[in-house]
Parts: sequence; structure tokens; C-alpha cells
Amino acid sequence: MTSAAPSLSDPVRYVKGVGPVRERKLANLDVLTAEDLLFLFPRRYEDRRSLTPLSSLDPGTTASVIARVVALEKRRTAKRNLSLSTLLVTDGRSMVRAVWFNRKGLENIFIPGMRVALYGRVESRGGGVQLTSPDFEVLDEDDPDDGFLSIVPIYPTTAGLHQKTLRRIVRNALERYLPQLDDYLPEDVKNRHSFKDLAPCMMEMHYPTSRDAWKEARRRLVFDEFFLLQAGLALRRARGGIGSPAPSIARGRHVAEYLARLVPFELTPGQKVVLDEILSDMERTVPMNRLLQGDVGSGKTVVALVALLAAIDGGCQGALLAPTEILARQHYLNLRPVFESLGLPCSLLTGSTGAREKREAHAGLESGEIAAVIGTHALLSEGVSFSKLGLAIVDEQHRFGVLQKHSFRTKGESPHVLVMTATPIPRTLTLTVYGDLSVSRIPDMPPGRKGVATRVVPPSQLPGVIGFLKKRFAAGERAFWICPLIEESESDLAAATERFDHLSKELSGFGVGLVHGRLGMEEKERAMDDFTGGASSLLVATTVVEVGVDVPEATVMVIEDAERFGLSQLHQLRGRVGRGDREGCCILICSPKSPESYQRVRAFSSTSDGFEIAEADLRLRGPGEVCGVRQSGITDFRIADLRRDQELLLLARKEAFSLVDRDGALQGSPLLAQRVNHVLGRSLNLVETA
Ligand code: ADP
Ligand code: MG
Repeated sequence: MTSAAPSLSDPVRYVKGVGPVRERKLANLDVLTAEDLLFLFPRRYEDRRSLTPLSSLDPGTTASVIARVVALEKRRTAKRNLSLSTLLVTDGRSMVRAVWFNRKGLENIFIPGMRVALYGRVESRGGGVQLTSPDFEVLDEDDPDDGFLSIVPIYPTTAGLHQKTLRRIVRNALERYLPQLDDYLPEDVKNRHSFKDLAPCMMEMHYPTSRDAWKEARRRLVFDEFFLLQAGLALRRARGGIGSPAPSIARGRHVAEYLARLVPFELTPGQKVVLDEILSDMERTVPMNRLLQGDVGSGKTVVALVALLAAIDGGCQGALLAPTEILARQHYLNLRPVFESLGLPCSLLTGSTGAREKREAHAGLESGEIAAVIGTHALLSEGVSFSKLGLAIVDEQHRFGVLQKHSFRTKGESPHVLVMTATPIPRTLTLTVYGDLSVSRIPDMPPGRKGVATRVVPPSQLPGVIGFLKKRFAAGERAFWICPLIEESESDLAAATERFDHLSKELSGFGVGLVHGRLGMEEKERAMDDFTGGASSLLVATTVVEVGVDVPEATVMVIEDAERFGLSQLHQLRGRVGRGDREGCCILICSPKSPESYQRVRAFSSTSDGFEIAEADLRLRGPGEVCGVRQSGITDFRIADLRRDQELLLLARKEAFSLVDRDGALQGSPLLAQRVNHVLGRSLNLVETA
């Protein structure tokens, strides 16, 4: 079974004690290899070091005892007909019971006279004390406590895999495989922060010897997790820098003039600052790699527009990438008039662009005739190649799901890249998820926003909501109606269509449109145009309108089954209204069936602070989900905690980036280079993947 030379990537079944059944159980814990077992850290520990004499057992406490078996007795309980096993033990002076419910096979374990160690809750029952469902170990006569009387690891486990079995398996893995784990941390880093060697730290995590030693070990391993990620990010950034240079784009005089001429408002102070940061980056030949954060509605589009104009003014092409066709087309419709008024050809490229237009766009981009292109993923596909791409902007980056280098095909030079996201996340998380990017933030909102009043109503008030809409429509306002979020797309569609039919009847006299992901592009376009142009007052939609959609005349957002949405999602949806000068209103239809989700929606309705909402969402759903990087696994730390371990994150980041600054390919630290690739190569796209 066991291969000759153990390797950390051996499948877990090579570990002693693991057969096909346990292999499947371990897979439930995401443990597939021997290495995964080493890094399966305990959830908590039990300190069984101090023994309690049987005569001193105190109800309400947890205790370790060592005693001899007197007898085991099995019977059924009268009340609930459970099988009850009672073990009588003695230390020569006192006698105590240990009881288990529905526990099979105990009669094959306990033999009168044998020594056992027990650890469990002490309860007072029927005039005496008992240990209820204690953990136990049969002791050897010659080895007095058999490791039982120590600080014992309690692992996260799964149904059908006993804590004791798992403990033994991990122990076996540690014995055979821990020597294979090289200490990849450079000596100078270890010395500077007094970190112990890797193997002893790993042992200490599984079998702590004292609280302080354990803390030291944890500190090193948390540092390691952050350090590996930051080294990966630093490598990725360094690689961007050594690739082909970007065109240096001088700050033309034209940009200020365009702004004055084409944008009907004054930029906010925040918009001015970030624009300045972006234009400064673009002057350099090191490709810009910048993240622009700004809450929904803070006005990122105009910043993107000006940056695109600057690139084109500097003799390059510009590209804007959006996560949905609806958003790509909206950007196109808004930006095209601006570009065309300056005599700059501009085109739209999405999955539904017709074959002929597509050919024309490809040719125009390749020859350089087309100055600006706006599109979806289609922009990254084979066949799209730019003549001289100066700036690529990715809007709503968090919606792209996986974090990857967006590879635009260019001839020779690399473009400057700006990614924009409306998910306000804490700095520690930004450093983790977008750690190789420079960050700009728009902290303010355009002036004159009246805000959005949020109300939570039960489904029974639907008629009232419809009555309210009628009044607003009569006053010339428009509304979105978001249909329930349903897992299977089939029923999602059904819900939207059904609601559309219902509302069309109820609101006859006002235009009602429907848009969802399954419509053809033409139908989607018609629905969006009717709503943007005012032909329909109500747009019934699924979450296809969640990001980016900008219709300033829309003032009301109705969300059905609001409790099914994530908080950040609700925040995005609410951000669609209250963009003009009239106050917005968000109505959350929420059934108070589940009190927790009702509370969550109530809490949401009481704040409009995107940052606060993101924090709450992070607590509830975790960073991977909120930032759209769940599949990449880069926020799945084994022990590090972004909240608690901030200081170590900053320290690890500093060390990793300065190391890569000195040694851009980690040639001096081959073990580290290997480890980074092993742990993160795939998720950070450090290695070429097929
Ligand atoms: P987001 O940051 O969510 O992408 P948008 O770029 O869609 O926001 O802008 C939201 C709305 O605010 C748009 O209707 C836009 O025209 C308007 N806007 C942007 N900047 C300003 C400003 N400085 N003053 C007034 N209105 C602005
Ligand atoms: Mg936007």
C-alpha cells in the first residue's frame, strides 16, 4: 500500500489507518493528500493534564480520571427507549459511573479489571455523580497514561469519522510525512521575527505543550499563510513589471477641455484625486495595475471615460470590459456620443454581436482604426487583437468571479489596466484579494443626492406597494421590480414571467417591461431602451440589472423575497435608484418567516453605508463569496484570521514584497519559490495553465 518514498502529495489513502471508506470521509473535510492531513489543524483542544480523584468529581465541571473497570451494564431507558450503557469504575476508594447513550460495541472494549482513562462532563444524577458520554482510552499496564493525559487536539470532523480515529490518522501522517515538509521560510525572515522552525511549530499546533509555545507556533504559521500569498502577489506584480512596457501617455491638454465640454457637472473632490492618480500612472512605462474602489453611485464611469479619452488622446486605443451585456451596452450608448463628437470611432463587442459586425470590429481593432471598444468577455476571446491598446478598464471586477489577469491581446506593448469595483471591503481584505494592485478610492458621493428611504413590508402588503407605484408613475417617475431569487433558473424565469403578467394587468395604462438573462439580446435591448427612454414606467427584472445599470429617472426599487439576497447584492440593487435629484425609495418585500433573515433585512434597511454593509456581509458569507473569489480559494486560510491577525498580515506583506524587490524570481529562496507555486500557483495564475 505505502509507496517507497513518502511524498506530501501522496493520496490520503497511503496514510496508515486510511482505507477507501475513511478516504471518502476525509474528502468531505477537503482532505485529499497526506499534506492536507498535516494542515488539518485542531478546532480546539482539551486540557486533560490534571487528573481528578474520583472522590473529588464536581458536577458541572469537565474532568480527566484514571480508574479500573468494574463492570459494564446495558439496558433500555424507560422513557425514550434509548440504549444506555453504564460503566462502573473505581480507583480503589470511590466508585463512579460513566454513561453513554446509543453507543454500540462498548462491551467489546471494556473488560473488568482493565485500566481506562476517561474525560468528560461531570453530572449529578440519582444521588451520585456520573461522567456523561466521556471520551476514553484503554491504558496499557506499562505505559501509564498513553498520551491521554495531555492537551488533546479536537479536529473538525465529519459524520462517521470518530474524533479518536481521526486523531490517530493525523498522528500517523505527522510521523511519516512531517519530515518531508521543508522549511521554506528564508533564514533572515525567521531570525528577524524569532520564528521557530516549521516542523516543531506544526507539532505544537497538533500537540501543544503549553499555551505560550502554542501561541508562538500559531504566530509563525499564520505569518506563513499570509507570507506565501503576499509573495505570490509580489511575484505576480513583478512579472507584470518585467513584461513588455506600457506606452507612456502624456497628460494632454485636451483632457481638461473635453471634461469641460462634455461632462455637464463638476467632478467631486474624490473623483479628481483618483483621476490624478490614474493619469500619473499612465505617464509611466510600467503598466498601471490599479484598483478603483467607489461605492455604488459614486461616479466611477466618468472617471473611466476621462481615462479612456486620455489614452486615445495619447495615440492609443482604449477598452472597457463589463460583466454583463446590459451594462456593456449601456456604457456604449453613453460613451459613443462623446467619442463620436470628437470624431473617434467606437464599437461594441459582446457575445451577441452579429458575425459581420464582429469581423468589422476585429479588423478595426487590429488596424487601429477603432479608437475605443466596449464589451463583455468577448473582448478577451481569440481573434481580438489590438493595434496599440493603451488602457484597459474592467468595470465591476468583483462580478467576474475569478481573479485573474485579464489578458488582452496586444502587439508588443502591455496596456495600462484599471479595475473598478463597487464592493467596499476592509483594507486587510483588499491587500489579500487585490494585493498586487495599487488602490484608489472615491470616498464621496456626487452632490445633491437625496438618499434612498428603505422600507420592509410583508408580502401581504403587495396591493399597497402597487398603489404606491401608481402614484409615483403618475408623477413621471420610474421603478424597478426585482423578482425572487430562485436557485434553479427554470423557476427563476417562471417567477419573473408570472410577476410580469400580474403587474402588467394591475398597472395597465403604464408601460411595463420585462428583462431576464434568458432573453435574446434584441429583446433585452428593447426592454432596457423602453425603460431608459421612458416608454415603460416599470421594469420587471431578475438580478441581471444588479450591477452598473444607470437610469437617473428611476426612483423606486422593489425587491421581492429580499431575505434571499446577500447584503452586498441588496446594496447594489438599492444603488440603482436615488441617482437623480429626486429622493429614492427601496421597498423590500420580506416574509418574516425566518426571524434571523428578517432581522438581517431590517438591519440593512437602517443603514446606507456601503462599508458597514460589506462588513456585515463578510461576517455572514465570508470574503470569498463577497469578493467573488470563492473558487480561487485565496481567502481560504487554514488558521489565519483577517480580522484578528491584521498585524501579521502587514508584517508578512512587508517582508514578502521587500524580498521580491531584492530577488524578483526568488532565485535565492528556491524552497519558497516552490512552496508558493505549490500552494497558490493555480489560483494566482503564476503558472501557465491550459
Ligand atoms: P458607479 O460608481 O456606481 O458606477 P456611475 O458612474 O454610474 O456610478 O454614476 C452614478 C450617477 O451619478 C450617474 O448618473 C452619473 O451621471 C452621476 N454623476 C457622476 N459623477 C457626478 C458628479 N461629479 N456630479 C453629479 N453627478 C455625477
Ligand atoms: Mg458603475
